[in-house]
Amino acid sequence: MIKGFGSFGFAEISCLCCAFLLATQLSLANPFPDSEKVPRDENLHHVDGFPIGLSLLRSSNDKRLKAAGGKSVIRIDIAWSADESYQIEKVSIDKSGTSALYNRSTTTPKQGSYVGVLRDANTNVALAYDSIGTGRRYRKLARSIAFRFPNPNKSVILELIAENPLSGKMEQVLRQRVDVDSTESEEVQFEHILLKEASHAQKLEVVIYAEGYKAGTKDKFWRDAQRVIQALTGSDFPGLDRMQISAVFSESKLALGQPPSRPSPEVKERDSFLGLYYPHWDQFGRWYHVVYPTNEKKFRRRLALVPYDYPIVLINSSDYWGVGNYMSHTAVPSDSSQFSYLLRHELGHFFGLNEEYQDGGPTELEFAPDIYEPWSQNITFLRSPLLGLLKWKAVVSPSTPLPTPSRYWSRGVFGAYRGGYAESEVAGAHSHKPGLDCTMDRGRTFCEVCRHAIEEVIADDIGPANLKPRISSSF
Ligand SMILES: [Zn+2]
Ligand SMILES: [Zn+2]
Repeated sequence: MIKGFGSFGFAEISCLCCAFLLATQLSLANPFPDSEKVPRDENLHHVDGFPIGLSLLRSSNDKRLKAAGGKSVIRIDIAWSADESYQIEKVSIDKSGTSALYNRSTTTPKQGSYVGVLRDANTNVALAYDSIGTGRRYRKLARSIAFRFPNPNKSVILELIAENPLSGKMEQVLRQRVDVDSTESEEVQFEHILLKEASHAQKLEVVIYAEGYKAGTKDKFWRDAQRVIQALTGSDFPGLDRMQISAVFSESKLALGQPPSRPSPEVKERDSFLGLYYPHWDQFGRWYHVVYPTNEKKFRRRLALVPYDYPIVLINSSDYWGVGNYMSHTAVPSDSSQFSYLLRHELGHFFGLNEEYQDGGPTELEFAPDIYEPWSQNITFLRSPLLGLLKWKAVVSPSTPLPTPSRYWSRGVFGAYRGGYAESEVAGAHSHKPGLDCTMDRGRTFCEVCRHAIEEVIADDIGPANLKPRISSSF
């Protein structure tokens, strides 16, 4: 175990009462702060009855279907401690892998604040990569970093490279030999249904999971899951033709309900299917409008009941909130009247995009204060934005001034407009964004820059098909 960052973690601990006061004074949410100003859905509940013509893929009651798993993966859960140390906590083999996971594991990740590298223990050759999480708060919210790699079937070493929470530099914080604990077996009752086929052979498995749906609400969940497809189809969501979409139902004992009235550092595992809850353990202004796992290992184990690339969690709730974090999870309230907007906005975060609004307090997707330039595709911290360095320079004309005055947007001109990144601060600089109308703000559709960014991540996640994987997919 390598310990990093010394006592930095303690500097961020502040008074509980102050944090609560701050939280109650600001109207905060991970999506746009004011729910009245975002697009509403029309005909919210117009899907009736059980979806017809859909096939049951797997069921915990049907041994034959249950056996039809995906490709073998090694899942590594790394615990984070407040003294800024990381340590492998659990190593499991499961069948949640997909062809896309095997393909993409061969390339170095472009995004993500926590990168895992699996190395051959004898030769030190990098065998596979994975990455997860946006910014410095992720380690506190999840308290665990989870990676999935193709099962190497040999002795391996895990290297964790994480963003330094002050400088933003990517540094090695762990290098540890990997010992497989066991093949897990857990009796969980569930049903898995196919909702939409992909129209390409090279596809991604998008799985919609039920959370907080109590006994007797299964049919409601199937209907809610159909609305995910409608919301994505209705907005021509980027890469939709590559997505095979299915849904997993399992009963929860507890519904999400309302957030606790005060934050508290103690984390108690939530007795629901995935154990998601408002992260009251992180003294962070917006904790009551997002959800994170109360037990990250249980969360990842349950997701892995079926093969998946992108998990979308539908929570049986009608409140206005939503969460998306890079390759970790997307969760939205199924009965919100802003459901479609929330789903698209939070999926945008899942693909690495940051906020394009600038109100409502700091964002949880906050990078280290001294970071020079964040990897989120739709914001820049460049001191004096220079066209040659802008991430989205392909859509900016050489005649557009940088920074770009807001009046230029009346002609739909892309540039570097002041704003975005909520109210999070950048040392000695400001955030700029490509335009003034986007779902990552409160718009109905993604701007061209965000749309292209999502398409690029999806292409990367499908993986370079012609490249021979370093780990054989024959097991
Ligand atoms: Zn957001
Ligand atoms: Zn955008």
